[in-house]
Amino acid sequence: MTARILVVDDIHANVKLLEAKLTAEYFDVITATSGSEALEMALRVRPDIILLDVMMPKMDGFEVCVRLKADPETAHIPVIMITALDQPSDRVRGLEAGADDFLTKPVSDVALFARVKSLVRLKMVTDEIRSRARTGEKMGLHVEDTADGGSLDGRGRILLVEDRESAIARITGALGDIHDIAVVSQPEQGLIDAAEKDHELVIISLSLKDSDGLRLCSQLRSLDRVRKIPIVVIVEPDDTARLLRGLEMGVNDYLMRPVEPNELKARVRTQLRRKRYTDRLRESVEHSMEMAVIDPLTGLYNRRYMEGHVGTLVEHAAMRGKSISILVFDIDYFKAVNDTHGHDVGDEVLKEFAHRLKAHIRGIDMACRVGGEEFVLVLPDTDMALAYTIGERLRQAIANVPFDAGAASGPLSVTMSVGIASLQAAHEGPEDILKRADAALYRAKNDGRNRVVADAA
Ligand code: GH3
Ligand code: MG
Ligand code: MG
Repeated sequence: MTARILVVDDIHANVKLLEAKLTAEYFDVITATSGSEALEMALRVRPDIILLDVMMPKMDGFEVCVRLKADPETAHIPVIMITALDQPSDRVRGLEAGADDFLTKPVSDVALFARVKSLVRLKMVTDEIRSRARTGEKMGLHVEDTADGGSLDGRGRILLVEDRESAIARITGALGDIHDIAVVSQPEQGLIDAAEKDHELVIISLSLKDSDGLRLCSQLRSLDRVRKIPIVVIVEPDDTARLLRGLEMGVNDYLMRPVEPNELKARVRTQLRRKRYTDRLRESVEHSMEMAVIDPLTGLYNRRYMEGHVGTLVEHAAMRGKSISILVFDIDYFKAVNDTHGHDVGDEVLKEFAHRLKAHIRGIDMACRVGGEEFVLVLPDTDMALAYTIGERLRQAIANVPFDAGAASGPLSVTMSVGIASLQAAHEGPEDILKRADAALYRAKNDGRNRVVADAA
């Protein structure tokens, strides 16, 4: 993991020291010795992280931070404030200025690399989501990217894995007023709770009496469902080796015993804020991407997606010498359903139709609604004979059980006609297959509807 880090400090020796430490760990380091220079470089060089000294003449670190966070071009760059140990209020001021983390002077190596690596990892995740958002925007989608304003609304849901009564009292005492905390003393129970309940943050003691908190960290990081939950560990001051192991595994932050309540509050708040921001951004991207390719009435893919994707599927099949079949469906006399029972009943029928379709296909099959009552189903790895069997099974699933479209209409008998074509020659494109499937559908309609016709060619 490497990244470009901007180090800002008015004292040259401090800059050199941090530069040497970070360069030795293969970070790409650039430096600035004043606030205005820092702002200019942040814009021009786009660092991944900014290490910012608080005490600087003219423009101090707080003001630099406020300005960075106010500019949309630089607001997403994580800022770590470097404060003096004897000025705890600076930390709070730093977080209020929008800083993402803080370090106290003299900066220990463990703390430096822990904070930097955690933020680089976070930035990689948000950069990835934001680049997907930009792709979406190029496709004409609107993606909500509400910048992380720094505020935290509502109580956090925290799981604490700790077996020491005094520590439990200290931690719940510091956080209990602002967050909901569930306490377990066994890591096994911690894993189950994290997987089954809706926690936003897990705090784990690395000095449990009979078990290894690090194992829980590694399990949480390898289990898909919980991989994105941030982890904060609590360590003994002399247990640097285990702390480093934890950080390598992807632990997000740590606190040394005895836990300082204000620092605990600040670190917990930062982790919760970040988690909510990335969750929101990810959901927004996924939602808008989905909206672009999903038909809202039926939940099936839309024509746009079908046209974009069917070519890839056909090409893959042709290249690997595999079969692929395309089925086109059209509901019979659907206009009559609307005319007799109304458009809403028609919509209910379309929903139920799609529901039955989905219940009968595999995960790799692609079902699309390409028009009002017209559907396309692409079946990879499926030859004509099998496609015919599937088409017939689907026809029966529609025709044999009346549709329940609500009390107004009573049970409705619905049928569909199906046309099928399969890939025949490697040079064939999706349009060729679709055209033959359409011709087969046309014959199914002409031959009396409620039937499956395979392309004869
Ligand atoms: P055929 O057996 O020849 O396919 O007859 P049909 O009536 O199904 O065919 P036609 O293409 O003439 O009519 C399709 C109807 O589908 C017309 C339109 O009112 C209806 N339709 C299209 N989109 C929707 C929709 O989103 N909701 C509802 N309720 N009806 C729709
Ligand atoms: Mg029709
Ligand atoms: Mg039609």
